[in-house]
Amino acid sequence: MSTLSFFGAAGTVTGSCSLIEANGLNVLVDCGLFQGNKATRALNYEPFPFDAESVDLVLLTHAHTDHSGLLPKLVKAGFSGPIYCTEPTADLLEFMMRDSAKIQESEAERRSRRNQRRGQDEVEPLFTMEHAENTLKQLETVSLDSWFEPASGFHVRFQNAGHILGSASAEIHYKDASSQNTMRLLFSGDLGPDEKSFHEEPGGDAGFDYVICESTYGDRERDDYTLKQRREALKRELNAGLERGGNIVIPCFAVERTQELLHDIGVLMERGEIPGATVFLDSPLARKVTSVFVDYAHTLDDIELPENELFRNPNFRIVESVDESKAINRIEGGAIIISASGMADAGRIQHHLKNNIWKRNATVLFVGYQAPGTTGAHILSGASDVRIHGKEFKIRATIRRIGNYSAHADQSELIDWILERGPVVGGLFLNHGDNEAREELARLLSERGMDADKIWMPHFDESFDLSAGTPQSKGRAKDKPGSMRAGFDEAELTRDWYTEYASFSIDLSNALEQAESDTARQEILKRLKETLETK
Ligand SMILES: [Zn+2]
Repeated sequence: MSTLSFFGAAGTVTGSCSLIEANGLNVLVDCGLFQGNKATRALNYEPFPFDAESVDLVLLTHAHTDHSGLLPKLVKAGFSGPIYCTEPTADLLEFMMRDSAKIQESEAERRSRRNQRRGQDEVEPLFTMEHAENTLKQLETVSLDSWFEPASGFHVRFQNAGHILGSASAEIHYKDASSQNTMRLLFSGDLGPDEKSFHEEPGGDAGFDYVICESTYGDRERDDYTLKQRREALKRELNAGLERGGNIVIPCFAVERTQELLHDIGVLMERGEIPGATVFLDSPLARKVTSVFVDYAHTLDDIELPENELFRNPNFRIVESVDESKAINRIEGGAIIISASGMADAGRIQHHLKNNIWKRNATVLFVGYQAPGTTGAHILSGASDVRIHGKEFKIRATIRRIGNYSAHADQSELIDWILERGPVVGGLFLNHGDNEAREELARLLSERGMDADKIWMPHFDESFDLSAGTPQSKGRAKDKPGSMRAGFDEAELTRDWYTEYASFSIDLSNALEQAESDTARQEILKRLKETLETK
């Protein structure tokens, strides 16, 4: 009997976690953190809907937090088996996992202090540094393209997924004991685009019983950009920003995007296509991750600088101490400041935004996706002010975005990848995408000749029996008596009253500020009070 369950990233893009139960073996593919609205984040604090102690091993597709972030929680809950991943993934996790343990510990401390003031209980961190360290000890590295047998009769091979450094798809073969059928499964992990610095496009074998594929951009088709066109766009933005005279502040993801950007800026400077401005990289995690990229420079594709000069332009200042970071505050203009977090919600980027966003000659340049509800999305929405660290700042800087850096395959690239993996005899499961993205992808795949009855869009916590050769849904854990997540409504994953409230409160404060007189302000408040009373 073989069962496949989806315990995250079903109808959403975070919390990737699938469980294969086969021949008495329990294998988890990824164990990611839930990110997004409040209800989704709350899932991180729920017990796992399976017994962590009974998991025999984990296959980890890549280092991103939404795929790896709950591994320390799994270890805390009693998982003591090996976690298989590629070597670069393990090296990235060395830094990323400790960084996220630090965030969890300080978040719990902050919430405990708040609770103490209210006479409430202390908050226990989701996991601690000790759990993160133990998780790192359980990592077992394997090479791309070679089969290994982590348990008797259970064969695995990782293949390039072209998404970030170390990313892989996981191919699994085993003989189902009840049906005696050989099962061939393929988990895509996150798939990269065809045209991307550092990594070749994703590939893999063909002919599977079951393919489990991500669908993040299932409903989006990007304009095709070559690496050269992308660099041209960056050149235009940087030259225009430097001409305005102020600093250029770039919120940037620490992993992969920062290194792509540093590489592109290095190339443009080397060719004299942009002036030799000082470039600050101010993110402790991005600095460490960049050192991992240097270690793997010999494996990177499309590098246009000598390996030993990668990220080492004389104009680059890789900031280490807090004092050095603070010193950037005194720079009035002409610098390029790259800092994390990528969506401007936390980290040192917030200090740089506070220092620059209200200046007319400054530029804020976005180079990555900004999820709804984040500070980055708010700034991009054309808002007149933004709240950072509890204070409001006028947005006077020029706000720009380059949309052509992406680590994800778009719609047609996903379709091509899936069709190249065929024939898929049992079924295709679309996960890691919201419902619109999955439905659109499924529709187009059936137009291209794939049997619509074989395309499945699993629900959150849904399990499937794979033994019969076509998937048989066993329903959702939620519907079974005693389920630990019985109270969770799937619709909560996309519902987001908290974000709407945050943006409404800024609209309200603007409306009050812009009202003609105090009487007009009182009138606005009176009308709002009336709506509350009619409830
Ligand atoms: Zn990813």
